[in-house]
Amino acid sequence: MSTSSFQPTRPLPYGRQFITDADVEAVTDTLRSDYLTQGPKVAEFEQQFASYVGARYAVAVSNGTAALHLCALALNVQPGQRVITTPITFAASANCVRYCGGEVHFADIDPTTALIDLKAVRQLLESHPKGYFHGLIPVDFAGLPVDMEEARALANEFGLWIIEDSCHAPGGFFIDSEGQNQRCGNGRYADLAIFSFHPVKHIATGEGGMITTNREDLYQELLKLRTHGITKDPAQMERHDGGWYMEMQELGYNYRMPDMLCALGISQLSRADVGLTRRRQLARQYDAAFAEMPGVRPLAGAIGHAYHLYVIQVEDRKKLYNFLRQHQIFAQVHYIPVHTMPYYQQLGWMPGTFPLAENYYAHCLSIPLFPSLTDQEQDYVVACIQEFVEQQQD
Ligand SMILES: *Cc1c(COP(=O)(O)O)cnc(C)c1O
Repeated sequence: MSTSSFQPTRPLPYGRQFITDADVEAVTDTLRSDYLTQGPKVAEFEQQFASYVGARYAVAVSNGTAALHLCALALNVQPGQRVITTPITFAASANCVRYCGGEVHFADIDPTTALIDLKAVRQLLESHPKGYFHGLIPVDFAGLPVDMEEARALANEFGLWIIEDSCHAPGGFFIDSEGQNQRCGNGRYADLAIFSFHPVKHIATGEGGMITTNREDLYQELLKLRTHGITKDPAQMERHDGGWYMEMQELGYNYRMPDMLCALGISQLSRADVGLTRRRQLARQYDAAFAEMPGVRPLAGAIGHAYHLYVIQVEDRKKLYNFLRQHQIFAQVHYIPVHTMPYYQQLGWMPGTFPLAENYYAHCLSIPLFPSLTDQEQDYVVACIQEFVEQQQD
């Protein structure tokens, strides 16, 4: 195969947003309305998102990291409390525990999926007295949903709360023990689930995030924490000074998502399933191409996979990364194991502690996958990788 027959007319990143005229109109309509922030679009986006994932409540926030922070606060993470997450995730999944002074612990991954290995989590839990750990933050890495039924059972056994980091998996689902599809963030298993609307994610608003839950108590707490710890609900107040009165009851933040971005989110959400279908189709096409390509190992797929990323593993990853760049293909590495970052090393974590995660990191590469990627562009990516593989064999 040769790469010369088709040359892409644009660089091909690993992910990119898909903005339509309808999206632009939704934003400009809001700009002309009475509300730039905290108008009707916020509740509308929240309701539609909650119904999309099948959860009772949704809270829109300024970004995915703010969502994680608010979750940790709502679950009352205290200094010294220990929380378990995966080393193969974006640093924010772990950092939210640090914001509250908690201790981050890690469990190694399952190398076929790169998800946190719940057997490794169990081993970690069993090697300490009950009550030693307080929470679990599983991540639906690359869009592959964690088996939350199993995670919940484990959490119940050891008295943990769960924040599911579903930034990669809106619309993704796992199949439960009764054969039912269970959508990420549907509130049945995790206490709280979080999503991000960063431009590379499925639903893009620039900055933005969402928390979903079925728990009324956490929902009320999140609403307050999102706005400075202030309530305007007279029923919840200690005093009633007059019509103007609002009450700051605890230390909160400004983590609100503005109306114009919620309007964009609503418009994007209306096309979420179209994008998801295209991502899954592209992934199947990659799967078929790499099944016949020695030396290229994709991560395991699944029917409910939301395919935020398409990850392959190759022997000489750096060489492939540089080779693809020369061909205008901007692949990326997801992720540098969190425990090997200097910040986490300062906290005592050592490289070598999670060999499966570190081995995965040595070989992984996320190649272009986004709804507007054309079949022709995808064929070009495959042809370039094929050419690389052949060069390696010479
Ligand atoms: C993007 C992402 C976040 C953070 O979201 P932001 O909106 O960028 O703050 C957290 N966790 C994971 C797994 C992500 O991919």
